Amino acid sequence: MDDLIRNAAEDLCGAKRVTALTGAGASIESGIPPFRGKGGLWEKYDPMEVAHIDSFLQDPVKVWNLLIKDMKDVIDRAKPNDCHKGLVKLEELGKLQTVITQNIDGLHQMAGNTDVIEFHGTFAWQRCMECNTHVETRRVDISTIPPRCDCGGILRPNAVFFGEMIPQEALWRSRQVATDCDVMLVIGTSAVVQPAALMPVVAKESGAKIIEINPESTLLTGDISDYLIKGPAGDVMNRIMANLDALL
Ligand code: NAD
Ligand code: ZN
Repeated sequence: MDDLIRNAAEDLCGAKRVTALTGAGASIESGIPPFRGKGGLWEKYDPMEVAHIDSFLQDPVKVWNLLIKDMKDVIDRAKPNDCHKGLVKLEELGKLQTVITQNIDGLHQMAGNTDVIEFHGTFAWQRCMECNTHVETRRVDISTIPPRCDCGGILRPNAVFFGEMIPQEALWRSRQVATDCDVMLVIGTSAVVQPAALMPVVAKESGAKIIEINPESTLLTGDISDYLIKGPAGDVMNRIMANLDALL
């Protein structure tokens, strides 16, 4: 483990353009549970089912009650953790250019990263399904479910449900930064949700080194990633940054 931490610090030290790809695991230490794996808030439900656009269109009250209300509660209170802070420091050092995130919690921006591609949109805003008016999630009154816009339309998260298209701009830019980077940090993603999981493949094909940070191995491990540093994202980032400081 110590060797891998040193390797990562050396790879980052020598890198000119670093891209990070983050998944739900990067926000776990901020108290936001992942969909899959142990401890998920939604262990009782299949997120693929509850967070599918067809479920929402069929029964918005059910999806608001089972999923969105809880997410609002958790995300409204969440603060960036050491993983987010480490990525900000890496940007300040002139190494990290862009964070591609699958997360919708806005914590990378709250921490201070300036170029964040939100692959799955954002939970910070809700939008009216009738007139497309956007309302800040923390201002949405959830005393009646589903919450509605002034026009009477139902509000939905400005995020991508399963079964919906990735915003084209996010996809296009992600491919570009994946192609251009010389190191990609892949943090806390199980790499099963496509097309986000394709970005490390694009980076690898363009010659980048792929470093994974995750307590578990993933579909990328041993195949696409050059090495996996096993551990929680905040702790691993702290150790990498301490080693990097000593090298700079
Ligand atoms: P996932 O839930 O499929 O996988 C989470 C990954 O995090 C796993 O590989 C797990 O081993 C790893 N992990 C667990 N603890 C960790 C830690 N302390 N540090 C680092 N990694 C840790 O997540 P996913 O691949 O991102 O896919 C689920 C989709 O659901 C995402 O695309 C996202 O849009 C959405 N989602 C978002 C949030 C959020 O915004 N915070 C939360 C849950 C789900
Ligand atoms: Zn409206």
